[in-house]
Amino acid sequence: MAGIYIHIPFCKQACHYCDFHFSTGLNKQPQMVAAIHKEILLRKEEIKEEVKTIYFGGGTPSLLTKDQIKVLLDTIYKNYDVSLNAEITLEANPDDLSLEKIQELSQTPINRLSIGVQSFFEEDLQLMNRAHNHEEALTSIREAKKFFDNISIDLIYGIPDMSNERWQQNLDIALSLEVPHISSYALTVEPKTALKKMIEKGKVAPVDDALAAAHFKILQEVMSSAGFINYEFSNFGKPDYFSKNNTAYWMGESYLGIGPSAHGYHQGVRSWNVSNNPKYIQAIEENQLPIEKETLSSNDAYNEYVMTRLRTMWGISLLEIEELFGNKYVNYLQKELPVFIEKGLIKKNENNYTITQNGKFLSDGIASDLFYIA
Ligand code: SF4
Repeated sequence: MAGIYIHIPFCKQACHYCDFHFSTGLNKQPQMVAAIHKEILLRKEEIKEEVKTIYFGGGTPSLLTKDQIKVLLDTIYKNYDVSLNAEITLEANPDDLSLEKIQELSQTPINRLSIGVQSFFEEDLQLMNRAHNHEEALTSIREAKKFFDNISIDLIYGIPDMSNERWQQNLDIALSLEVPHISSYALTVEPKTALKKMIEKGKVAPVDDALAAAHFKILQEVMSSAGFINYEFSNFGKPDYFSKNNTAYWMGESYLGIGPSAHGYHQGVRSWNVSNNPKYIQAIEENQLPIEKETLSSNDAYNEYVMTRLRTMWGISLLEIEELFGNKYVNYLQKELPVFIEKGLIKKNENNYTITQNGKFLSDGIASDLFYIA
């Protein structure tokens, strides 16, 4: 099984915290879509497996027109072996989701929307420089629900000056909208972002780990009482609504990354396209793939497995580790794991080891302690 990820590198405006690859030069969109279309064709021999997920990420894929989406998907369907019940997700921003746009999207094969709400409160949206207001956040979801059943929304916590009460209210509003999936991330301050400069100049309060940890605890409690399963650190779904795209990625399945900056993975080889729109377009127009590749060493592959799996409810399996990477790593884990089990941070369930509730917020640190360093 495989997935196809398509990166749409345009946004109306730059969110202050964002370090993804995008440009606000929207006039280049038709040329970019033509290049992405061509890359889909140029790489059709790379994936022979059945494609079970297609994911339009970005940037802001909801800037694509219905016709642009149709052309890209038609080309994928004609040139790849797409499953009948493939999950086809489009990331969308609330300000793009007019009723008319949602209706148009529902006439394409897209069957899942991931809506970048981030917060239902005006002060948070302004601080982050989001392009939508709180009213658009609400109406876009209400309207989307008339045409789509599989909807996820993104929410950000740990925003400076966001009280526990306001975070709880955000979650209450999200739950009242009855969407089956929520992804929630702590605000992080990336280098070279406007947010970093604003904090340095004292215009915004620093991001506080203790606040993020308190919000994460509230998130866990609220979502669990509402019947959501925290199947991955940042992802909460009702049964049958877990993201197939992300799950396949965590399970180490192949995916093709199309578009500037898109990453891919196939049989131990990681690849990524150039993060520069003009360079990407020029290379593709000249029938060149602007791609770099790296073959993962067995240590890197094992470390990556531990990092991604410990964030999930499926955890790490010694049987699988032996099969994928060899006995050396199992012996290593058998020595290291008891320390974390004693501290109540990891627990054993049958053949798998998972992070406990107490260990969850520390899962990245625990994973790096279990890395195998040669
Ligand atoms: S809309 Fe998304 S990709 Fe674009 S700037 Fe904002 S966070 Fe980044």
